[in-house]
Amino acid sequence: MADSCLFCMIVSGEIKGTIVFRDDQATAFRDINPVAPTHILIVPNKHIESVSVLESADEQLIGHLFSVAGQLAKSEGIAEGGYRLITNTGPDAGQTVFHIHVHLIGGQMMRHPMG
Ligand code: 5GP
Ligand code: ZN
Repeated sequence: MADSCLFCMIVSGEIKGTIVFRDDQATAFRDINPVAPTHILIVPNKHIESVSVLESADEQLIGHLFSVAGQLAKSEGIAEGGYRLITNTGPDAGQTVFHIHVHLIGGQMMRHPMG
């Protein structure tokens, strides 16, 4: 766990989150400021800052985040209609919490363009 990392503190239970999934590798919780009817953040339990510092040993873990996202999309009832998975990386992309996370966003028609 990294000192003063918000998502590490949600994973450890030090800060309250609305947890919707947890296993030995990942935790998922509802975004505090949802942009759509479903907005869930899927994070690894171990602290990794961003995609930019991923190592080859993390590949299985990152794949697991997507697998969890797909399962949650089904349980949220948005799998058929479709959804977005977003991982903001670095300040230009709008990353504000530097613990890697996948946004699962859905339940409404998405707007384009993404950029
Ligand atoms: P980023 O901007 O880094 O891609 O995404 C960070 C996300 O974390 C934002 O969507 C923001 O609403 C969410 N967030 C920030 N603080 C908290 C918090 O204390 N609890 C929860 N559940 N989400 C948070
Ligand atoms: Zn962290």
